[in-house]
Amino acid sequence: MKTTRGLSRREFESRFGTNEQCMEFLTNQKWEGGFICRVCHHSQSRVGKKCQFKRCKKCGTEESPTAHTLFHKVKFDIYKAFGMVYDILTSKKGANTIWLAERYEVSQNTAWLFKRKIQAYMGSSKNNLLSGIVHVDEFEIGTPKTGQQGRSATENKSRVVIAVEILNDGKVGNAYGQVIKDFSTKSLKRIFDNQIDTNAQVVTDGWRGYSPLKRIYKRLTQELSNEGKNFPEIHIQIRNLKNWLRGTHSFCEAKTLQDYLNEYFYRFNRRNHRQNIVENGFLKRFLKAKSLTYYEIINLAT
Ligand SMILES: [Zn+2]
Repeated sequence: MKTTRGLSRREFESRFGTNEQCMEFLTNQKWEGGFICRVCHHSQSRVGKKCQFKRCKKCGTEESPTAHTLFHKVKFDIYKAFGMVYDILTSKKGANTIWLAERYEVSQNTAWLFKRKIQAYMGSSKNNLLSGIVHVDEFEIGTPKTGQQGRSATENKSRVVIAVEILNDGKVGNAYGQVIKDFSTKSLKRIFDNQIDTNAQVVTDGWRGYSPLKRIYKRLTQELSNEGKNFPEIHIQIRNLKNWLRGTHSFCEAKTLQDYLNEYFYRFNRRNHRQNIVENGFLKRFLKAKSLTYYEIINLAT
C-alpha cells in the first residue's frame, strides 16, 4: 500500500494559509465535475457578483464555494476554519476548544460550535468491519450532569462498549466505541451490527449479555476476565480513552460522549497516516459535508 507522509503543519499553512487559497481549493473541489445549477440543473455558469461565486447562465441563481459544505456561514476567516480542521484531525490527541479559541483568536463558543460540526462527521463509515480476532469489552465512565463543569460527586455514569481488532503480530488494528444505555444483549449488539464482521473471532469476557450473540457470531468465545490480565490490549485502549476524555475533554456530557468517541477512534484508526488529510480525501469528506445549524448541533444527542 502506498503511504505518503502527508502534510506537515508548515506545508499545510503554505497551501491553506490565506482565505484566497482556501476558497480556490473549495472552488476546485466543489465543481471538479463541472457546474450544475441546484435550481434548474443548467450546466453553464458565469462569474457571480462576488469573487469565486458562480452564477447560473439560465436562471441567475448564485452559489458560493462554501454553500452546502462544512464551511457554510462560518463567521470567521476560512483559513482559520481550515486550520482547525487540520488540528483536530491530525494532532495526536486532538485539539480542545480552549486551545483552538486561543490559537485562532475566536471565542470559545465559536471554537466549540465549529468543533462539534467537525465531530458530527467523524463517525465510522461502517465500511471497514473489524475482522480476524476482535476483543470486545464494556465499561462505565463518569460524565458530568448537564450544565456542570468537570467531574463532581453528582456525575452520571455512562456506559460504553468498545471493540478492538488484534492483528496477527499481536498489535492492535482498528477499534471503535459505542455509547450504550445498559449492558443488555440488545444494547451490546449495536457495536457488533455496525462494526464487526460476522466471521470475526470475537472474544468477550464472561458477561451473560454476550451469550445470545453466539447465534450470529458463530466464532464468539467468552473468557472469564482475570482482572483484565488476559485482555491487556483492550484494557490499554480503555485506559487511554478514559485518560483522553478526562484530560483533554473534562467537560464531556453524556449526550455528546458518542461524538467524542467517534473523534477519538477516527484519529486512532488513522494514527499511522493522520497527516494525509488531503491525499486520502479526509478533507474532501468534510468539504462535502452539509453544514449543521446551531439547533442541529446542540441536539446531536446520541
Ligand atoms: Zn439555474
